[in-house]
Amino acid sequence: MYNPKSHKAEEFIDHNEVLETLKFADKNKSNIKLIDEIIAKAKLEKGLTHREAAVLLTCNIKEKNDEILSLAKKIKEKYYGNRIVLFAPLYISNYCVNGCVYCPYHSKNTTIPRKKMTQEEIKKEVIALQDMGHKRIALETGEDPVNNPIEYVLESIKTIYSIKHKNGAIRRINVNIAATTVENYKKLHEAGIGTYVLFQETYNKESYEKLHPTGPKHNYAYHTEAMDRAMQGGIDDVSLGVLFGLESYLYEFSALLMHAEHLEAAYGVGPHAISVPRIKPADGIDPDTFDNGIDDETFCKIVACIRVAVPYTGLIISTRESASCREKLLALGVSQMSGGSKTSVGGYDNPSEEDKESAQFEVSDRRTLDEVVNWLMKLGYLPSFCTACYGSGRTGDRFMEICKKQQIHNFCHPNALLTLKEYLVDYASPLTKLTGEELIKTEIDNIQDENIRKITVENLSKIETGARNFKF
Ligand code: SAM
Repeated sequence: MYNPKSHKAEEFIDHNEVLETLKFADKNKSNIKLIDEIIAKAKLEKGLTHREAAVLLTCNIKEKNDEILSLAKKIKEKYYGNRIVLFAPLYISNYCVNGCVYCPYHSKNTTIPRKKMTQEEIKKEVIALQDMGHKRIALETGEDPVNNPIEYVLESIKTIYSIKHKNGAIRRINVNIAATTVENYKKLHEAGIGTYVLFQETYNKESYEKLHPTGPKHNYAYHTEAMDRAMQGGIDDVSLGVLFGLESYLYEFSALLMHAEHLEAAYGVGPHAISVPRIKPADGIDPDTFDNGIDDETFCKIVACIRVAVPYTGLIISTRESASCREKLLALGVSQMSGGSKTSVGGYDNPSEEDKESAQFEVSDRRTLDEVVNWLMKLGYLPSFCTACYGSGRTGDRFMEICKKQQIHNFCHPNALLTLKEYLVDYASPLTKLTGEELIKTEIDNIQDENIRKITVENLSKIETGARNFKF
């Protein structure tokens, strides 16, 4: 029944295969010989199967767990260096016809104020985001064919790309909207979106149907096969995720990797990124009513195991997590994070929206983008506002090829420096600017290619005199 090449949800996420994987992992959780073999394979940096990765996640031998965490760190440094790409979510409408029991947008919630932004309001939000320094956003909406039809999403994308306030620009819009048709994915592709993001929430069909009792999202197969339709619609960068806390984390972890294997087997390219959200308190939602909450230690191990299982896939962490938890996860594999986020509709231009309880969920990291940038640099990371891959056609298998050959540093590192410089000149506080200028000085020497280094230095000084948007 299990068939990674199949286009049917229940064949590429075969429930029995997940159960067999969990059994196999449990049986081998103290099997040093097998664990050593899997770690040795992981050291080749070509990834692991879902079964192998599940054994590592289940492993209960302290020294082996330490080895897994330090391997994750090593792989992260090798493929992503010290760069962290920054973005912010933009909620344009919280109208929703679904019944997701963990989400305050669910249609029966009468206490949450419903809001759909006009194009004029979206403009104001985008200006506020640009004034913070953001260049990359994740566009979010609830699912509502009447209030948020695809035409509204497309018009909003056009509006967002068109706004150039002072030196600001949103150069990449990733889109997190409900599962839709191939036709609509084609339209999103033509509108120039970056990544299509859709969280599976849970891969366990039985739980999925209970957690999504009403609305179009109830259909497990339609939701699970969304990435296939996105790829058929021409979107070759897709981003997976599960909402940790809903189901057993081992089930989700194994199925998530099976989904990645399916995309690789069926389309020749795995997911561009994986998100690891954990359920948070929200209007009428208490995470403790779900039985599968995970502690920080387990969460760190999940991130480390994803890092070693899919070394070339970006790993995203949101402001759902606290600063201290995000700090731990950065070292273990996270390559992208949101900063200065608002989860309410209209919350950037009008921060009081956040207090009106229209927010989707509580964020734990409430620091400003400037504070996040400064913190990252103090920890030795290089904050990046780069969006160049998407503009230069380095998407899908082309991106993966470059990443696998470790060529990505030649592009990403100088691009990170150039976009950080833009941030420092246009938006940073004096303290952040000081720290950032010092960092750029040291990081220039880490550009290996002499010619690229020379061009980067030239362009950094052109940014000081007003030029923008240089990229490799
Ligand atoms: N409406 C789209 C869909 O159906 O997939 C996605 C947009 S929704 C705004 C983005 C994500 O927020 C959801 O996929 C879900 O995983 C997450 N989310 C919902 N409720 C949450 C909660 N209480 N805590 C944390 N994340 C939550």
